[in-house]
Amino acid sequence: SSSGSSTPHEDNINVVVRVRPLNNKEIKSKDESVIQFPGNGQILCEGHSDMQKAKLFSYNVVFEPGASQEDILNYSGIKRLIEMAIEGFNATVFCYGQTGSGKTHTLTGPPDLFVGKADISHPGHGLVFRSFFYLFQLLQQRQENTQFILKASFLEIYNEKVIDLLNPGAARKKPLAVRWSKKLRGFYVENLFLVDCEELDDLLAVLEEGMRNRSVGSHLMNDHSSRSHTILTVHITSEQQAENEKSVFISKQGKINFVDLAGSEMTKKTHSEGKTLEEANNINKSLMVLGYCIASLSDTRKKNGHIPYRDSQLTKLLADSLAGNGVTLMIACISPAKSNVSETINTLRYAARAK
Ligand code: ADP
Ligand code: MG
Repeated sequence: SSSGSSTPHEDNINVVVRVRPLNNKEIKSKDESVIQFPGNGQILCEGHSDMQKAKLFSYNVVFEPGASQEDILNYSGIKRLIEMAIEGFNATVFCYGQTGSGKTHTLTGPPDLFVGKADISHPGHGLVFRSFFYLFQLLQQRQENTQFILKASFLEIYNEKVIDLLNPGAARKKPLAVRWSKKLRGFYVENLFLVDCEELDDLLAVLEEGMRNRSVGSHLMNDHSSRSHTILTVHITSEQQAENEKSVFISKQGKINFVDLAGSEMTKKTHSEGKTLEEANNINKSLMVLGYCIASLSDTRKKNGHIPYRDSQLTKLLADSLAGNGVTLMIACISPAKSNVSETINTLRYAARAK
């Protein structure tokens, strides 16, 4: 869709890549990086065997292993999405990549940051935490002539079942239904908790509570977080007094979704058996459908054709951001290690198709 890295602001989808550092295990086993950074939003990745040529990919922005959490806030384009959500658009940011590539690190940071009262200046805080701060900065600047109402929800999609991370007890027994609303002209989750958030602390509490409930689930099921998607949504309603008519209010409704996707390696694991096969198929399907929906977005010929939002719970719930006047940011997370190069190339391809 974009002619180059110089025009990211006109696109309804931007794609950035974050390369995590080699971890201790990789360094110990003398694993090495297969990624080079030619600049200009490009990534050069070695082939997965000596017979294969290195491949060059191009994105809106590339974050090298030394990039900080604050860099992601400042240079990924997320600030524009937050601004647009305030202006009444539907915005989505999602992290895509194999398990261990840094999706959760990028969105929420290390889990122990949320134990007790978090130090707000900690460099480890992820993009969600930082976005909430930025959002409240903007709201405070506009408070004089505009009233804002914020509500937040936090859900998990596991094996096509929707679980409310803010009310997990009820939902684990009976998954929530995803329904079509004629009135809203969109899909919604029936009986999902929507928490009023008047203060920044209320939003942070939603993040903390949902994270805690997600990790409880992950102890019950091995590898749970690599098989599930989570969506944290902030709904923003604004009422602005018209300039000339003090009794007239202009109302806008926007939202921003923060999506932590299942591990992309799951799309390959179709050889497993029993329940795992069912799960793998569902994960496979939702990531494939998501990829298809996104590819359609950046291709105007396909845009007017059929886009299969209804084929997975994930894409149903993101449809109003992926379609129409929504704006989307994809953060593709990759490992630099040679031992992961096949999955890395898969991720780089998926991300390049989206752009
Ligand atoms: P994913 O959610 O994609 O499975 P994680 O975010 O859990 O991956 O990351 C796997 C491990 O790598 C975690 O221990 C995390 O702290 C670490 N990690 C990921 N990205 C970075 C980074 N950019 N800098 C430092 N550590 C990272
Ligand atoms: Mg994760």
